[in-house]
Amino acid sequence: MTSTRPVKVRFAPSPTGDLHVGNIRTALFDWAYARHTGGTFLFRIEDTDTTRVTDEYIQAAIDTLKWLGLQWDEGPEVGGSNGPYLQSQRLDIYAEWAQKFLNQGDAYHCYCSPDELEAVREEQRKANVAPGYNGHCRDLTSDQIAAFKAQGREAVVRMRMPDGTTTFTDEIRGDVTFDHKFVPDFVLVRADGSPLYTLAVAIDDILMGVTHVLRGEDLLSSTPRQIRVYQAMGVKLEDYPVFAHLPFVMGQDNAKLSKRNGEVSIAWYREQGYLPEAICNYLALLGWSPGDDRENISMKELTELFTVEKVHSSPARFDMKKLEAINGDKIRALSLEDFTTWTLPFLIKAKVITGTEEEIALVKQALPLIQERIVKLDEAPALLNFLFVKQFAVDADAVAKISDDAAKDILKRSEKELTALSVWNHETIEAALRASLIEELGLKPRIAFTALRIATTGSTISPPLFESMELLGKDACLTRISAALAL
Ligand code: GLU
Repeated sequence: MTSTRPVKVRFAPSPTGDLHVGNIRTALFDWAYARHTGGTFLFRIEDTDTTRVTDEYIQAAIDTLKWLGLQWDEGPEVGGSNGPYLQSQRLDIYAEWAQKFLNQGDAYHCYCSPDELEAVREEQRKANVAPGYNGHCRDLTSDQIAAFKAQGREAVVRMRMPDGTTTFTDEIRGDVTFDHKFVPDFVLVRADGSPLYTLAVAIDDILMGVTHVLRGEDLLSSTPRQIRVYQAMGVKLEDYPVFAHLPFVMGQDNAKLSKRNGEVSIAWYREQGYLPEAICNYLALLGWSPGDDRENISMKELTELFTVEKVHSSPARFDMKKLEAINGDKIRALSLEDFTTWTLPFLIKAKVITGTEEEIALVKQALPLIQERIVKLDEAPALLNFLFVKQFAVDADAVAKISDDAAKDILKRSEKELTALSVWNHETIEAALRASLIEELGLKPRIAFTALRIATTGSTISPPLFESMELLGKDACLTRISAALAL
């Protein structure tokens, strides 16, 4: 992308809720572009809308980026020479520039009331013309201004949009032109003195030396307004950031991804046990590809290969099944050490374990049994619970399956065989049970082993049976079998 200055890319969310899939896709591309070019990744919090942004959401945004491994070079907690990086701490800067724009005649005070503005919009709707401010207060006389003030009206600051057009080259879309007929004079500062997004974002991108703005397509239409602010600031053309608007992320139903057609909050994925590298891997390929059809990509490969030229211009479709599959792959690729580290919090949160050394040692022995079969970490507690329960209870639905006579025989026979075992491991257990139940009694393995599985693990779904029995230990297995027999 063209800019002769050292690359600086920013991610600038307005945390009015938890960051969602779309935000993170943007953050990931911003980060990847900065890392690919050896540039700077700047993180800025756009929190001027104090009615919607909360401290909690700001902290959550910071934590989410950290959790994903998208470390920033300038921004909250890290600092930098262009701070502060929370817009709420930069209000005086915006106020100064707004005053300058007023002094220059680029902006003016507008005294129209919300009701009057609504009436204008209503007329525009009726006349079927583009909605927007009609320029009512553009050229007020001092008498008119005095009259408005006398009425106790409070003014907003509005930017004057000259007639004509704005054209800029979007790195993904090519040349984009906006006719100012559709970009009416816009508000920079509210009546209460608080700045609007368009003012703050434009000023900060310039003052912080941002060279590249990669962001969602929903912000495309605010670009001509931001360019108008640059002009009023007197920024040289070569110091404008380069824009690249990323394609929308759509749900399976082809509508823009939202709460309605897909789970969007990253916090939700985290709670479900998605790994950050799975989320990044999946989102990296949502609207971008390295030029082949690979589905697996590491963060390192992403930073090596990421270029804006390979970002698609058409919308990408979010596919939860694909994300799940990638998560399963990433879980299987973890070392036992890492898999343990990731899974322990889930087991503790579900109260399967408290986290003692003894429990962790057993978890480590059990995890290889489930690593191949789970796609999300939150499946682990239900699968491993049987190893740790003090008050063992058999799932009621499962009991129904073992209460017939065949099951009784199976359990009695197993009890006898297992009691006689002198060496207790999955091989000896399996050999003894197969010889007795399958070969001698002629039972189908599914029937024989389901009864045992229910009796020893309490459920029809468990890690592999013989390995589970080995870990559970001989005493516990026999106690559970005799308890099942007593049912
Ligand atoms: N703060 C804006 C938002 O979250 C995005 C700013 C930008 O990327 O220009 O919608």
